Amino acid sequence: MKPLIGHAVARRRIARAIANGQLPQVTLITGPEGVGKQRLALWMAQLLLCEAPSQEPCGQCRACRLVLGLAHADLHWIIPIPRPKAGEPDKQMEEAAESIAEALEERRKAPLYSPPDGMSAHSMATARLISRRAALTPVEGRKKVFIIGEADRLVAQESSPEAANALLKLFEEPPADTYFVLTTADPGKLLPTIRSRAVPLRVGRLSDAEVREFLATQFEPAPTGAELNRLAARANGSIGAVLSDTGEGQRSRTAAAAWLESVLAGSGAAAERALAQAPWSARGEFTDLLDAVAETLGDAAREASGLQGVDPVPSALTGRDAAGLLAAQALVAEAREAAQGNVNPQLLLAVLGGDLAEVL
Ligand SMILES: [Zn+2]
Repeated sequence: MKPLIGHAVARRRIARAIANGQLPQVTLITGPEGVGKQRLALWMAQLLLCEAPSQEPCGQCRACRLVLGLAHADLHWIIPIPRPKAGEPDKQMEEAAESIAEALEERRKAPLYSPPDGMSAHSMATARLISRRAALTPVEGRKKVFIIGEADRLVAQESSPEAANALLKLFEEPPADTYFVLTTADPGKLLPTIRSRAVPLRVGRLSDAEVREFLATQFEPAPTGAELNRLAARANGSIGAVLSDTGEGQRSRTAAAAWLESVLAGSGAAAERALAQAPWSARGEFTDLLDAVAETLGDAAREASGLQGVDPVPSALTGRDAAGLLAAQALVAEAREAAQGNVNPQLLLAVLGGDLAEVL
């Protein structure tokens, strides 16, 4: 993982609590999006599991190295995933475990990750997975640590709080060797029953100097001069805000715009060319592309309704009516659902392109 930057006060508080044996078993880290809440939770897990801890994890011992490689058997980093498809609860749980492992593998390869898409959540299957793992004895050492990122997504729908309820008992009486670290940018959305069981730890935005140091040392290629100034201003104390402006997210949006332009120009050949540029060798990247198409249509619909679009809208989409754009967005959502299954992306996009050309 990339080094943790900032949050010096929070780090000191955590280190002191661990040294005094007073760390709460359920902590809720809150703070703005993209400031490194889950990275801080990983640091906390590293300090808890480190074989020679002091104010900071030693960084050298086996436990430290395993945590930083996201490979420690007693570190369970739980992140939102698409709802499992299997019917049977045990199968659903296996599927959830696999999805989480895949998502973590991607974070291992690309530690500067973007937030999960809006459809992903902590489902009932994930809640059962956590309960199951919490009941096991630690593998490596004497403690186990669960990080539950975006804990507000424990309620995917207001009407189905089962996933969260299943965890309540665990949060109320955690096994003696078990620590839970929850993170959220929006504690108001967290179930009050969970909020009341966790000790809050609030972190703030990063300083301008911290953001600049991170950009200059951890981004490839490292931005300099005017670009560094632009990104630091855009960040406003959040590394995540910069990530949504660069890298994969930007590549997907560019590919989405090129694809939409060519679909609307009625050129199959051009659409294929646009797709050849798209960053979608892996299935996750394909759904990123569909997300980017949906976002672009949403921006165009907002613009058509007289509201400000978030990003500039491709010229082929300007001047179209909002109803058509929203209908197109719904079609993309359907395609995205289908993309979770075992379909051929090329074929799916060809069909989707035809459908979009009809409604727009
Ligand atoms: Zn260590």
